[in-house]
Amino acid sequence: MEVFRAPRVTLIARPEFLEPEHLRVQWQGSASAGERLAEFAGRICYMSQHNPANRSTADYLENIKKQGHGSVLEHAVYVLLIEGISRSCSHELVRHRAGFGYSQLSQRYVDESHAAFVVPPAMLGDPALESEWEREMADAQAAYVRAVEALMQRYAWIADKVHRRKVAREAARSVLPNATEVKIVVSANARAWRTMLELRTSEGAELEIRRMAIACLRVLEREAPALFADFEIYRADDNHDAARVAYHKV
Ligand SMILES: Cc1cc2nc3c(=O)[nH]c(=O)nc-3n(C[C@H](O)[C@H](O)[C@H](O)COP(=O)(O)OP(=O)(O)OC[C@H]3O[C@@H](n4cnc5c(N)ncnc54)[C@H](O)[C@@H]3O)c2cc1C
Repeated sequence: MEVFRAPRVTLIARPEFLEPEHLRVQWQGSASAGERLAEFAGRICYMSQHNPANRSTADYLENIKKQGHGSVLEHAVYVLLIEGISRSCSHELVRHRAGFGYSQLSQRYVDESHAAFVVPPAMLGDPALESEWEREMADAQAAYVRAVEALMQRYAWIADKVHRRKVAREAARSVLPNATEVKIVVSANARAWRTMLELRTSEGAELEIRRMAIACLRVLEREAPALFADFEIYRADDNHDAARVAYHKV
């Protein structure tokens, strides 16, 4: 049985910026395409491509965040592949609607006989809790396999095997625990990511989604610091990472 003890977050798409030749910006400093796209969009509002204050992209976007001009951040879309999170974690994640798009592993179509499971962060490092939990996961998985087999027999009269398997799996998944691992592709613009990260990296968030949000934040900060580096990651009193943001959601 495969067990995840941390999420795996991979950046799979980033913005490409095609600067129009007739409206060139006097860029200062280096920046990624997503950051320049946001600056370009902001400068259109005031036709300030000549960069009168001689700001670097990082300084320009710092001021945008400070002013709460959040719509400028909506142009830069980042796509993350998130693996090693539980079904309950993904259920919380998909509540974030505005500016988000999702594609999640389907338990109706995918055989979960060899599904992985995600250890809740609160249990990590306690051998007794972990081994009891692993036993429960193995039992649930065995129950799933038995249910699929029985349902395949019950619905043997369905000629289309793909359809029969779907009928069996969609019913059998009801015995799988919340801890079953899912994989999900998440697209969101920088403003939407910031809103989700602010809520889910905070100390009030549930521990697993908090761990996932911190992992997303690390990837996004590395990719586009001018859009995300005002989040400060710290070790909270509960001995788990959390983050606070300098510029509150707008
Ligand atoms: C610590 C914590 C505990 C939670 N506990 C529960 C719980 O017990 N039960 C539960 O059901 N959920 C719970 N949630 C989920 C929460 O209620 C939200 O669904 C989730 O945080 C997504 O937030 P959002 O709607 O602001 O995000 P998004 O859907 O991404 O929206 C972002 C922003 O866009 C605007 N917006 C989006 N849609 C609309 C709309 N239809 N109308 C007007 N404005 C809109 C709002 O300003 C909103 O803040 C919890 C969340 C957290 C962080």
